[in-house]
Amino acid sequence: MWQHNHHNSGLVSAHAEDFAKYCRDVPDFPKKGVIFRDITNLLKNGPVFKRAINELACHYNPGEVDTVVSIEARGFIIGSALAYQLGSGLVPVRKKGKLPWRVHSKTYDLEYGQDQVEVHQDGIEPKQNVLIVDDVIATGGTVEAVAKLVREMKGNIIGAAFLIELTELKGREKIQDVPVFSLIKY
Ligand code: AMP
Repeated sequence: MWQHNHHNSGLVSAHAEDFAKYCRDVPDFPKKGVIFRDITNLLKNGPVFKRAINELACHYNPGEVDTVVSIEARGFIIGSALAYQLGSGLVPVRKKGKLPWRVHSKTYDLEYGQDQVEVHQDGIEPKQNVLIVDDVIATGGTVEAVAKLVREMKGNIIGAAFLIELTELKGREKIQDVPVFSLIKY
């Protein structure tokens, strides 16, 4: 059964929930020209938050994911709930200088300048099945850097999951060999 989706007049399955209506568009944040996709209204609604996490979780087979690797800071919110639901571990990827022990680092390019992500050296064991999680995939630069880190540690990336994908920025092309799943597409 199909019905009209009021937001973009496209057809959606009657069973697919439109999570986009819980996301707020904030123009010119954090800087002019960027439309920030704010997920706080989705998070504050318990049943909606739960359904969103369950919908992400049901894309993975039981026992398939050993480790969720999630990205500071909003990625931790989605990643830890998803890891709990999947029964898998959680490994945080953080910005430079935040993790207390020995790290592997990866530098990546931003629009202006560079950034660096880090993970603990014992965070991922060789051959572990890893799911990379963040709130938003935009240009894909961040997840590409994380995927490189995981591969250097010989982890087996089984996918990357996001609440939101900004499709025009073609972020998934930066991680072509990784299956990407996103709940909301703009
Ligand atoms: P990127 O490396 O370009 O894929 O950017 C991904 C990171 O930046 C994610 O951790 C997002 O949380 C954040 N981000 C990028 N663009 C947006 C946006 N329009 N709204 C909210 N978060 C964003």
